[in-house]
Amino acid sequence: MDEVDLAQEREEAHISASLSARKPRLTSPDGKCIWCKDEPAVTDTAFCSAECGEDHGKYEREKKQRITGE
Ligand SMILES: [Zn+2]
Repeated sequence: MDEVDLAQEREEAHISASLSARKPRLTSPDGKCIWCKDEPAVTDTAFCSAECGEDHGKYEREKKQRITGE
């Protein structure tokens, strides 16, 4: 295993940790990032990166505010 693999593994662990704090936990139905729909999602998440997860979370919060907040 070379350094690139190790960095990739650490990155995936970081993404999983930051995403698992959020509920409900999302997974991708087709293995692709559900936000950008372009990159393959990290195992056990619905996103390719923490950025996509954050953007999706932001979008969900705003959507909720539009419904409940007047
Ligand atoms: Zn993405």
